[in-house]
Amino acid sequence: MSLAQQALDKAEGIDGYRAACAASPLNAEARAEHIYAPSFLGKDELKKLYLSIYDVPLLKSVDVIVLDSSADNGYPHTRANSLVCMPKSSIISVNSHALTETLCHEAIHIHQRQYPDLWSSACSKDGWTPVSLSDIPSDFVSRCRLNPDTFYRQRFWAWQTHYVPMPLFIREDYPTLEGVQIKWMDMRNKALFPDPPPSFVKRYGDNPPQPEHPFELLAVEYAAANLNSDALLRTKLQSL
Ligand SMILES: [Zn+2]
Repeated sequence: MSLAQQALDKAEGIDGYRAACAASPLNAEARAEHIYAPSFLGKDELKKLYLSIYDVPLLKSVDVIVLDSSADNGYPHTRANSLVCMPKSSIISVNSHALTETLCHEAIHIHQRQYPDLWSSACSKDGWTPVSLSDIPSDFVSRCRLNPDTFYRQRFWAWQTHYVPMPLFIREDYPTLEGVQIKWMDMRNKALFPDPPPSFVKRYGDNPPQPEHPFELLAVEYAAANLNSDALLRTKLQSL
């Protein structure tokens, strides 16, 4: 068995992400055509990947593996405890600058896995409140796309006490990983709204990528600002 497959098996033993997908009918169907397995890069692409990895100090003690282009719809992601998974398509289809920013984003997710208390308190200071899974109606939970970077500890958060973003499959008869819409659930009456609350727009802008979870919002923001080391991240988080 390859080292990459061993790393995936070890990660699965800790986070159970693939098992969670298999246990959720919509999540299983949305991934049914994907090949979730290690793949290989050509010489030039491998060099490009290495050069980008060297540009991100956070990745110094992190393993990066290449997966089949179709794995999780080609979305880069992380697995427990410190594994970055890069579908081949996410490497070959972008320039070096974009690849470095993506790797920084994933490295920040690893930092979140390593220091969950630090990040949870940062989310709280930024305006978020953790929400218990039992406070979300189960038919909403079953319609949510599972995200390996956010599902493992505190899956749902409410913005300004009341508003919980949820990545819901648009079509239950034909779920796909890209066919997802963020809806906002008001905790007070469990109603769903298509638009974020104005205070959220004020903080994160009109249309931020991945508004489904504060770990994603902060990873997007900090990777764009090139906060690529432990020291830079800690300084930022403590300033909130
Ligand atoms: Zn992410």
